This record gives sequence, C-alpha cells and structure tokens, in this order.
Amino acid sequence: MSTPSRHKVLIIGSGPAGLTAAIYAARANLKPLCVEGFNAGGLIPGGQLMFTSDVENYPGFPKSVTGQDLMMRFREQAEHQGTEFITSDAQKVDFSSRPFKVWVGEDENILHLADTVIIATGARANYLGLDSENALKNKGVSACAVCDGALFRGQDVVVVGGGDTAMEEASYLSGLCGNVTLVHRRDDFRASKAMQDRVRQNPKIQILYSHAITDVLDVSKDHVTGVRVKDLKSGAERVLNTAAMFVAIGHTPMTDLFRGQLDTHPNGYLKVELGSTRTNVPGVFAAGDVADWTYRQAVTAAGTGCMAALDAERFLAAEH
Ligand SMILES: Cc1cc2nc3c(=O)[nH]c(=O)nc-3n(C[C@H](O)[C@H](O)[C@H](O)COP(=O)(O)OP(=O)(O)OC[C@H]3O[C@@H](n4cnc5c(N)ncnc54)[C@H](O)[C@@H]3O)c2cc1C
Repeated sequence: MSTPSRHKVLIIGSGPAGLTAAIYAARANLKPLCVEGFNAGGLIPGGQLMFTSDVENYPGFPKSVTGQDLMMRFREQAEHQGTEFITSDAQKVDFSSRPFKVWVGEDENILHLADTVIIATGARANYLGLDSENALKNKGVSACAVCDGALFRGQDVVVVGGGDTAMEEASYLSGLCGNVTLVHRRDDFRASKAMQDRVRQNPKIQILYSHAITDVLDVSKDHVTGVRVKDLKSGAERVLNTAAMFVAIGHTPMTDLFRGQLDTHPNGYLKVELGSTRTNVPGVFAAGDVADWTYRQAVTAAGTGCMAALDAERFLAAEH
C-alpha cells in the first residue's frame, strides 16, 4: 500500500456545505481535499440539490437556477480556488488520535491522514417507497415545502406525515396554496400539542387520519394529478385530486460512518457546540444538514460550511 497523503483540511461531502467549506479553506491556503462522494446512501456528488429542478430561493439567481447548475458552479469555484477532489465515498474513519484517518475507495483501500476534518455528509429525505412516487419526484412529488411550495401557489396539495415536520409543512403550504389535505396513517399525531392545535384550527387544512397513500397519479401524464388513499380501518380506497404531494415523514442524517466516534442527538444528527461547528472531538467539525434538522436549506448549509472552514483554520492557527 502506498504512503498515505496528509492534508490540513479534509472535507467529506460536496453539497452546499462541503463545497462552501472547500472554497473558504482553499482561499485560506489550506489546500483542502474534498472527498466528494460517489453514491453513499443514495446521495451523489453535489448533494441533494442534484435531485431538484429549479432552485428559486438561492440568493443571487433572480430568475432561478437548476440544482445541477448551481452545484456545478459551487464545485468550479472550489476547484478554481485550489481544492483537490476525490470522487469516492469515505468508507471508514478513525478520529481516536491525530492525524485523523479517513479511508476511501470501495475496498477502504486508500488511507488519507488529516489534521482537521469537516463533515458535510448531509441528510436524505425519507419517501414512502412507491414506484409512482419515485417516477413523479420533481413533477409534483416533493420533500420540501419551503423549496417547492411556491410552484403550487393557489392549487390544492397533499401533505403526508404526522410529526412536527408534517405540521410545519401543512401550515406553511396553507399560506400559499389552495386547500391542504394532511394524510396520516394513525389516529393521532406524534407532533407537539402546540403544532397539532395550529393545524387543527386552520380552516384551510383538512386531516385524513388512518389513511395511507397507495399510489400517486398520474405517471402517464408525467406530473401529479392526484393520490389514491386507503382508509386503513374500512379498506376503502378513493382518489384525491391534487397538484402536489409533499412527503414529510422525516430525514435520515448520513451519520452511520461516525457512530461511536462522535456525539449525536437522539435523532441521529451530529452534535455541535452552540454557535460553532465544533463536534466533541477537537479538530472535527460538522456543517450543513448532517447537523441541522431545523432549517435544511442550501443557503444555511453553505453558511455553516463557511463557519466550519473558519473554525478549522482557527483551530490550526491556534496549534501553531
Ligand atoms: C428534492 C429537494 C429539493 C430541494 N430544494 C431546495 C431549494 O429549492 N432550496 C434550498 O435552499 N434547499 C433545497 N433543498 C434542501 C437542500 O438541498 C439541502 O438543505 C442542502 O443540499 C444541504 O446541503 P449539505 O451540503 O448539508 O448536504 P447535501 O446536499 O445532502 O450533500 C451531502 C453530500 O455528502 C456526500 N456524502 C454523503 N456520505 C458520504 C460519504 N460517506 N463519503 C463521501 N461523501 C458523502 C454526498 O455525496 C453529498 O455530496 C432541497 C432538497 C431536496 C431533497
């Protein structure tokens, strides 16, 4: 095996957080290595925005920009500033001593050493798992009301879920769209009482308890026209006409790799010190959705990516 290369800053992930960290670290002359991913957890280089069409809320693009174009620009800027890229997944890490160890490549065969590591592995939206749902993603099926709600202004929409996120998405959409139907599998919600009350008191939101979505229509028309719902008590099925289905059944943070090495919240997201990107291991920082289940936006991920690079730079400067 060849001698492992050593880096001042190693970044895992290449969504808005990872690439912004790369831009800042490169400009600070830290020559970052970005392990940009390959297909870990179904995510790809560029991150979640690679799966969306128009991004209308990223500042600087008044007429919107496609997710792929936006992420290509992030990457070009990071490369132009001097970031080195490896198109591969990080397979194993060892943060027990410094330099930190990160193995990449299918057989965990390439070892990189790093003085600091920035984790920006993101989170993946959970979906129902229906074929029709998959076929109509970005064609009316969405996992982000703040991102896509405005595309369905004035139209009737469906939200699926029963937790705080579903309540938030339904409330948000009721201010933009026509009627909102909230579909939930159980008789009661998991969401906090305050959130439930807000939804129940909203005249634009109808709630279908004990119902499940069995199909999303209409794949033959290539956009959402309705959803088939099943009453789980009677077994009866019917079609609800809708322009969009917002799936709000949670996200899975991409943190398996760090289990046992970094502190996480009970929901699996990485813990960082308030107001910083510092994890419990000095020299390891976390940015973007992997440590944030509240905001989950490209611009906030980019913001914390910047913070992580500055935190890493200050950490290295303090050491020398
Ligand atoms: C369909 C959709 C539409 C959206 N639309 C908008 C929108 O319009 N506006 C908006 O602001 N936000 C939008 N979002 C949310 C936004 O995409 C996220 O908030 C943002 O991408 C988070 O950035 P991130 O860098 O933290 O992580 P991600 O974008 O999730 O990127 C994670 C990166 O980590 C990499 N990775 C994961 N595991 C490994 C590993 N083991 N080794 C190496 N690399 C790894 C992945 O390949 C990926 O590159 C949308 C999300 C979705 C799903």
